[in-house]
Amino acid sequence: MSATLSSDSRNSAPPQVAIVGAGPAGLIAAEMLAQAGCVVTIHERMPSPARKFLIAGRGGLNLTHSEPRATFLARYGGAADWLAPLLDAFPPARLQVWVEGLGEPTFIGSSGRLFPASFKASPLLRAWLRRLDALGVRLTPRQLWKGWDESGGLRLATVEGEAIIRPDATLLALGGASWPRLGSDGGWVERLRAIGVTVAPLRPANSGAHIGWSETFRTRFAGQPLKRIALTFEGATVRGEAMIDPVGLEGGAVYALSAPLRAMVERQGQATLTLDLRPDLSAARLAERLAASRKGESLSNRLRKAAGLSPVAAGLLREGEGALPTEPLGLAARIKALPLTVTGMAGLERAISSAGGIARSDVSDGLMLRARPGVFVAGEMLDWEAPTGGYLLQASFATGAAAAVGILGYLGVRAPEPWTGGWQAEARGEPRARREAKARDDG
Ligand SMILES: Cc1cc2nc3c(=O)[nH]c(=O)nc-3n(C[C@H](O)[C@H](O)[C@H](O)COP(=O)(O)OP(=O)(O)OC[C@H]3O[C@@H](n4cnc5c(N)ncnc54)[C@H](O)[C@@H]3O)c2cc1C
Repeated sequence: MSATLSSDSRNSAPPQVAIVGAGPAGLIAAEMLAQAGCVVTIHERMPSPARKFLIAGRGGLNLTHSEPRATFLARYGGAADWLAPLLDAFPPARLQVWVEGLGEPTFIGSSGRLFPASFKASPLLRAWLRRLDALGVRLTPRQLWKGWDESGGLRLATVEGEAIIRPDATLLALGGASWPRLGSDGGWVERLRAIGVTVAPLRPANSGAHIGWSETFRTRFAGQPLKRIALTFEGATVRGEAMIDPVGLEGGAVYALSAPLRAMVERQGQATLTLDLRPDLSAARLAERLAASRKGESLSNRLRKAAGLSPVAAGLLREGEGALPTEPLGLAARIKALPLTVTGMAGLERAISSAGGIARSDVSDGLMLRARPGVFVAGEMLDWEAPTGGYLLQASFATGAAAAVGILGYLGVRAPEPWTGGWQAEARGEPRARREAKARDDG
């Protein structure tokens, strides 16, 4: 990346940029802006930066995905058109090169998802903060952005009281509203609406489903995983894993269906999710195996030995309404299509991400707020949503990078050379698919 100011600005003092929010979107913008010669200060409300990024590391830190461009973009649904040029400028291959440039080898699992080989966020974050420090970026923790004063200054609540700052450009990278205890609580929504910005309500995305388990089932099985299952809703089937939660189901397979489930629950108060406990066996084959069980064998033994169900899967079968069929065809049909009534979705406090945010119509191509020239926005604050699989971090990085380029354009500072590498992240070295089993399907 070039680090030069254009001739217009070369003789004047370098521009001052304030970035509010030290998540991935804010930090990548800080890096690019500092490399281009800006004086960058990051204002973060929490005592330390990137807490959500660090929590993502608990699930293995799924950074991005290696699938082809068209498939990748389709994950953003209605926002795909908007994000496409931003992701083209900062695609998965660029994120992979960037991670490796920080000294963290990457690896692509059998699902195509990309992780740091350490499966951790902390070494990557440490190396990143060292790089930002070397670039002269100032990180000021415990500074809460509270809006603007009458003359457009940024109001910050600091430990010494309120401060007003007047940078040449501002980036708000305040995140969505999931896991609010990590710092991003959506407190910005009303502040932006107050200046005329359209913000779609922030709602839980990639969230668990509420299901009314019986007391017996909850007590015995809460916390246990359901492995190699498939969930179907409105014609879409997702294979993967789920976890029995005291109030319902959590885990990657549920998260992937959470957007249409949420919409149905909002419309009709409930939704029916269909669970296949043996997606790798046809109903006919399963019925044959059940029919071949020893005469007089208990139902529990037939479910365990012939159908290969774990205790939690067998327990789940008994949760359904009405008596469990005992003849092979009926029992196989129930194992292959167990209806589960979803009565609500887990709230923002437990969702992996949030849907909603700042409308596309209210920002320029360079992510500047039309209502407030000189103020840019990036990351999960924008109105896009995506399933787990690395798409959340990839879009946070790409929009942070796009905002940095937008800010450089606004300030008349020469932007870095455009990315000319490929689009797709590439597997390097030997495939180490088995290691992916260590990662949880969180994001
Ligand atoms: C448990 C969990 C696991 C996840 N795993 C993955 C994963 O493996 N892969 C993936 O792609 N995604 C994952 N995600 C999602 C991903 O972490 C987020 O999408 C991403 O961090 C969003 O980046 P951001 O920079 O937009 O916002 P954030 O990371 O939320 O950062 C915003 C920052 O702004 C600060 N802030 C907010 N308001 C103010 C204010 N008023 N003043 C000052 N500072 C403020 C916050 O404290 C925060 O530090 C996961 C999320 C969770 C909760």
